[in-house]
Amino acid sequence: MLRELNPSIRTLMTPGPVEAEPRILRAMSIPIIGQFDPEFLAIMDETMELLRKTFQTKNHWAYPIDGTSRSGLEAVLNAIIEPGDNVLVPIFGRFGHLLAEIAYRSGANVTTMECEWGTAFEQEEIIAEIKRVNPKVVALVHGETSTGIMQPFEKIGKFCRENDVLFVVDAVATLGGTEFKTDEWFVDAVISGTQKCLGVPTGMAPITYNDRVEKIILERRKIEQGLDRTSENPRRIQTNYFDLSQIQEYWSPKRLNHHTEATSMLYALREGLRIIQEEGLQERFERHQYHEKALVAGLEAMGLTLFGDARYKMPVVTCINIPEGVNGDEVRFTMAKEFGVEIASTFGSLAGKIWRIGSMGFSCRKENILHVLAALEASVRRHGGKVHAGEALQAALDVYAEKEAALSNK
Ligand SMILES: *Cc1c(COP(=O)(O)O)cnc(C)c1O
Repeated sequence: MLRELNPSIRTLMTPGPVEAEPRILRAMSIPIIGQFDPEFLAIMDETMELLRKTFQTKNHWAYPIDGTSRSGLEAVLNAIIEPGDNVLVPIFGRFGHLLAEIAYRSGANVTTMECEWGTAFEQEEIIAEIKRVNPKVVALVHGETSTGIMQPFEKIGKFCRENDVLFVVDAVATLGGTEFKTDEWFVDAVISGTQKCLGVPTGMAPITYNDRVEKIILERRKIEQGLDRTSENPRRIQTNYFDLSQIQEYWSPKRLNHHTEATSMLYALREGLRIIQEEGLQERFERHQYHEKALVAGLEAMGLTLFGDARYKMPVVTCINIPEGVNGDEVRFTMAKEFGVEIASTFGSLAGKIWRIGSMGFSCRKENILHVLAALEASVRRHGGKVHAGEALQAALDVYAEKEAALSNK
């Protein structure tokens, strides 16, 4: 017999998965009920309403895809893209490549444009490329977790809407941690994930889309033969599991039987979204900002430098240049082994050059920020790095003291 499952408790300071609120974990242990139980259907509807608030949208459609965040990307792109469609993907890190890859696999004629990792595009550059390519769809990452960079896009969204281009945004790493206004920013479809700023375990991809996207989905509607022998459609969506024409009917009053909804994950998502509403969206974004401020103050006091164009820094991911002569992985291993703190490395051309610290959701709190700074300082020194010892925690504590003083004066 294997031992009972009992993994160590960790401080998770990566850009996902992050720690889940105990309330969410408790929600996951609630007994299972059937997928067509009226009480479960009510939970589905409540979750849709909570998602609309989180996405800041009046869209009717807002529901989770069961799978990790990329399942949402795959579902949305496969619903919109038909073979031969022109799709433009601006790429400024790993996840832009993922959008291009999914679009390509769904049969699109993909045009990409790239900028150096650690920077963002000027919006005008992307708009010029949209004019040149005249795509049906523009797919863009909002917060590029691999480089810690956030792409502004309010002008791009407006231009797309005025020119009848569909605008799809990957908000996996930003939703619930920093401002995201689906309607005001003219985004036609948004995809998110649970294990980042929503602070829920990995396993769902909340999406929302408007009637421009719904129209395409309805035109491509095809129901499984086992449910409807007459249903046929030459334009049908290529995948069954991610077929939004069937999934949206499951999330409609028709309750078409598609997959079996993931009961415990839905409990978790509902509780996570409820916590966000309780905290308040603006309050939550501010919380992420002041913990970021404390973290950055600590890192700079230590003498470390941040990677990437500061104008476009994601507030929920902080990338640090690994000091010359220090082995980044050894430092991370020491942090994990001695302190139980996990931070991240990164991918592709930046691998071995930067560390990434996530400060997302429930992981984004004072004791975690102080803990990660202490662990990083000690571990860098352990591996021969030169930092200003003892300064980081004081600098971070100063930021917290300032914040607490401001609060008590209110
Ligand atoms: C994490 C992430 C993804 C992929 O998420 P999975 O849940 O691992 O599938 C996609 N896009 C962005 C921006 C991310 O940060």
